[in-house]
Amino acid sequence: MATAVTAPPMDPKVSEFVATKQKLLINGKWVDAASGKTFPTYNPATGEVLANVAEGDREDIDRAVKAARAAFETGPWSQKLSPAQRAKLIWKLADLIEQHQEEFAQLESLDNGKPLKISRIADVPLTIENFRYFAGWATKIEGNTIPLTLANSSKFLAYTLREPVGVVGQIIPWNFPLLMAAWKLGPALAAGCTIVLKPAEQTPLSALRLGELIQEAGFPDGVVNIVPGYGETAGAALAAHPDVDKIAFTGSTEVGKLILQAAAGNLKKVSLELGGKSPNIILDDADLNAAVPGAASAIFFNHGQCCCAGSRLFVEEKVFDKVVEGVAQIAENIKVKPGFDPDCEMGPLVSEEQLNRVCGYLESGVREGAKTVAGGKRLGDRGYFVKPTVLVNTNDKMKVVKEEIFGPVVTATPFRDPKEIEARANDTIYGLAAGVWSRDIKKAHTIAAKLRAGTVWINCYNVFDPALPFGGYKQSGWGREMGHEVLEHYTEVKSVCASLT
Ligand code: ADP
Repeated sequence: MATAVTAPPMDPKVSEFVATKQKLLINGKWVDAASGKTFPTYNPATGEVLANVAEGDREDIDRAVKAARAAFETGPWSQKLSPAQRAKLIWKLADLIEQHQEEFAQLESLDNGKPLKISRIADVPLTIENFRYFAGWATKIEGNTIPLTLANSSKFLAYTLREPVGVVGQIIPWNFPLLMAAWKLGPALAAGCTIVLKPAEQTPLSALRLGELIQEAGFPDGVVNIVPGYGETAGAALAAHPDVDKIAFTGSTEVGKLILQAAAGNLKKVSLELGGKSPNIILDDADLNAAVPGAASAIFFNHGQCCCAGSRLFVEEKVFDKVVEGVAQIAENIKVKPGFDPDCEMGPLVSEEQLNRVCGYLESGVREGAKTVAGGKRLGDRGYFVKPTVLVNTNDKMKVVKEEIFGPVVTATPFRDPKEIEARANDTIYGLAAGVWSRDIKKAHTIAAKLRAGTVWINCYNVFDPALPFGGYKQSGWGREMGHEVLEHYTEVKSVCASLT
């Protein structure tokens, strides 16, 4: 397999960027870590070191929080910039990302492993649109006038103000590194907060390049600070920091619980976007020409490394064999190659840890009696490639059906009665997303109403839009990303009540 690093289309600016030791962005300056330490990121297509990055830790987080606090309390961001000026800056950032689209697409593919063509059509354009959508919100965050209800209410004027929540810590994962940064930064900036962002240790590069453009756009110093580092050190320090007003986290449910405990010290506000084990339900009246590729893409998009991946496929008995055969055939034909290969349809998993985790589940599935009808193992011995996998003969008690695998592995089970399927689909600790495929809109909407999930896609899957809220029921999280709902997390409501007598 060709290595992604030496593949021909590499933009010279990207080669230069990965060859340069990357620093931390604190108070508008690029600085080394206080410890002087660096950590490597790896190219998942080869397992080789891709770049070296300053390793932020407690002291760096503390410096970054101080800078964010100063920018929030006394800097031009809070004192002089109007909402319209904030909107302009966010829009300008979107324009700058657009001017550097190819660079971002390449960095993302190199660092995460995903196909370059996917970063080009999904990650980068969605990032740009997300910033533009939230630029629009900066000028539309309003309070209300409140008619009081008591007898003497006419003697008071009462209203609410919506104010920025303050200094925000944002901890993001490696599956969509740039887009997750945008989901978090967009609304926080629109609301007028200041930020300390900690990218995932596996994929810090696009956030660091974004930091350069944040500088170029002209955001005041300290408004956005970027501190890469490990979760247990930099991440934990940010979650526990007593001067952070709010922490926003996307990642595993397990770490989400740690974040919550760490946040308890100063009772900072918490929003969490966590794991999933999403049911994808195909009824026998579905248009299988759409449902079969839809079910394949629901699990195999981004190599199954999506918290909303349609990893539990439930198919009505009559069409079960046909659907499984179709999904298995697609799985077998997916071209698994380095992300820079022009033929690549699926790249490597992000890390060795992730490779071992997914392979562990593949073995456990077979041990528990599942039958592999496509894939089922690692591909090659260099890089972190796994074959897209379809498992059947599963039951709802198996680990592969219950636990989040976060890889290209789908379990398919038949069902007899559409009524039975609602309970089975909801039989999970998670509640992030679900899919329903049917030509009968009454049936589809009835099932959608019963599913305990933050998003239900009907006759489609993985459709995202900055205006559409996304987040989880149950252990899939607290709160929503995107839409106007996310602004709740980044604002405090102040009630002002004035006597008119
Ligand atoms: P995954 O298991 O998919 O790698 P994680 O939940 O471990 O996802 O990581 C998501 C983000 O959370 C990363 O930025 C990671 O560094 C960070 N993280 C991991 N552990 C902790 C922790 N104990 N406290 C704070 N952040 C953490």
